[in-house]
Amino acid sequence: MYTSRVNFRSRQAQLQRSLEASRLDALLVTHLPNIRYLCGFTGSAAALLIAEDNCVFFSDGRYGEQSREEVQSARIVIARKAPLLAAAEWLRLNRSTSGSSTLGIEAEHLTVAERKRLFKAVSSKTRIREAPPLVEQLRMVKDPDEIEKVRAAVNLGASLFARLLRAIRPGVKETQAAAEFEYAARSGGAEAMSFPTIIAAGKRSALPHARASEAKIPRLGFVVCDFGVILAGYCSDMTRTLHVGRPRRQARRLYEAVLQAQLAAIAAVRPGVRVREVDAAARKLLQKHGFGRYFTHSTGHGVGLEIHEAPKVAAGGSEILKPGMIITIEPGAYLAGRYGVRIEDMVVVTKHGCEVLTPTPKELVEI
Ligand code: ZN
Ligand code: ZN
Repeated sequence: MYTSRVNFRSRQAQLQRSLEASRLDALLVTHLPNIRYLCGFTGSAAALLIAEDNCVFFSDGRYGEQSREEVQSARIVIARKAPLLAAAEWLRLNRSTSGSSTLGIEAEHLTVAERKRLFKAVSSKTRIREAPPLVEQLRMVKDPDEIEKVRAAVNLGASLFARLLRAIRPGVKETQAAAEFEYAARSGGAEAMSFPTIIAAGKRSALPHARASEAKIPRLGFVVCDFGVILAGYCSDMTRTLHVGRPRRQARRLYEAVLQAQLAAIAAVRPGVRVREVDAAARKLLQKHGFGRYFTHSTGHGVGLEIHEAPKVAAGGSEILKPGMIITIEPGAYLAGRYGVRIEDMVVVTKHGCEVLTPTPKELVEI
């Protein structure tokens, strides 16, 4: 229902311009989210060959009808062989000019075996080279249509938070609470979860990347809830940390420190700033409160068609923020064996600063 508003042609044109700058004659796109971004295909078997003057999409017989429905601004080839090999054959037959040509591949998204097969299938005049992440660079900056889709996913995810609060009770297994929440999400229209819902209660809240487990939610302690939904292909991602029972003074101090760090990082987001400055803003606040060494991961990441995209908002990150980028801001602090806190929002970089997309309040909720 959204596809007609997406200008695939202009995305392809941008990529074609970057091919020239990278001295590639063509790029073989094999990462499915990149293919979706460039031509609209949502299936699970495809390759897209982009050259200076054309764009050819390859899939197999299972996707004939779907390709004709979804794929825009590309010639469609439905082959009897793997899309990758169909693309190689097409190259051999259609680009057999006298000179040699350089084909870029997405090194991060091709197996060693696929690369070998591709190498065998192209003509000897074709040089294969690992391309820089050209499509990922384009995807970092979202167009207005994408921002609206992300906003809708964020709002759906956030609207389910009340449901999650009801599911979290002492004695309930983390997996049970996650299941009730995920059922509500799918019933509410989510295509899928962005990732398996994280419910980490009590001591397990100190595990930054815990999955919901068989452990029961205790009568006293933090519960880290990290979740997201996919809507129209776009992901949401948010974290709130609740407290079952009345938090002790130390626990409250930790929560306040993480919240201040999160707010400081959000305040640092604006065009022209390097991502490491945003990371530093959060880290500085936690250091000031004596929790610096418990902040063991990066401050955030890009979100879009994938849950983790460029740019990574990390200590060494040199990427410069631009209007239209959508990133998470999610500092946390984890005291092993005791408890942990993380607070995560999604923000979109605007002309002069940023807009926080996640509408959910961040005061500590006691249940
Ligand atoms: Zn998250
Ligand atoms: Zn995240």
